[in-house]
Amino acid sequence: MPLYTADALVLRTYKLRDADRIVVFLTADRGKKRGVAYGARKSRSRFSGALEPLTRVSVGYVEREARDLVSLNFADAVQSPMSALDPGALGHVGYFADLIDAWAAENDANEKLFRLGAALLAALAAGTPIDPLARYFEYWLLRLEGVYPVWVRCARCGTALESAGGALLREAMAFTCGACAPRAGSERVSAEAFRFLRAASGVAPDRMAVGEAPPPQAMRELERAHRAMIATFLDREPRSSRVLREMGA
Ligand SMILES: [Zn+2]
Repeated sequence: MPLYTADALVLRTYKLRDADRIVVFLTADRGKKRGVAYGARKSRSRFSGALEPLTRVSVGYVEREARDLVSLNFADAVQSPMSALDPGALGHVGYFADLIDAWAAENDANEKLFRLGAALLAALAAGTPIDPLARYFEYWLLRLEGVYPVWVRCARCGTALESAGGALLREAMAFTCGACAPRAGSERVSAEAFRFLRAASGVAPDRMAVGEAPPPQAMRELERAHRAMIATFLDREPRSSRVLREMGA
């Protein structure tokens, strides 16, 4: 039974029997794992405080042949999302963890995704404003997975979108200028929003700095566009995204 130690992000947990929890976590080196944390539901547990979604942990786990579930020996919190300074941030933590969970493949190493998640956590702890941070994270997540639509020029006529603005066509998942966008089935995206994408693309995903505050309207446009992309590419809307939207409504 090999014992592994890893740098990891907790994605979610659920109950198993009276005293135990199943923990889903993304390791830096061996992809997503599912493990049993024995005794995690007891009030005095060696896992206490380390199993909240998006906590960065140092874990030790044992893999057994022909078993899907690993067994967690320990999980020590290295950085917690509970230290986030922006009061709006805590409501987003579950959403971020859900998105990483939805894209992470089991037992398939994805170091870029791990680093993006770790950078997100560090930016939360540093008090980065939550709206631009969330749009930045969504942009890089979709881009790393290779599904973010080309946004520099209109997909139909080639107009530069950073000066003209445009729209996301929901059916085609493509950006066009305003003149090429049909009236129905598109989400307006302004020039300011495209300029935010330009700034975001110029910063490595593990730096996650957000420059000067972008206009709130541009953030709302990208929020709607990203939600449409995520629902299309995941073939469903993450539950936590729906909760966030209803809280905002
Ligand atoms: Zn066009």
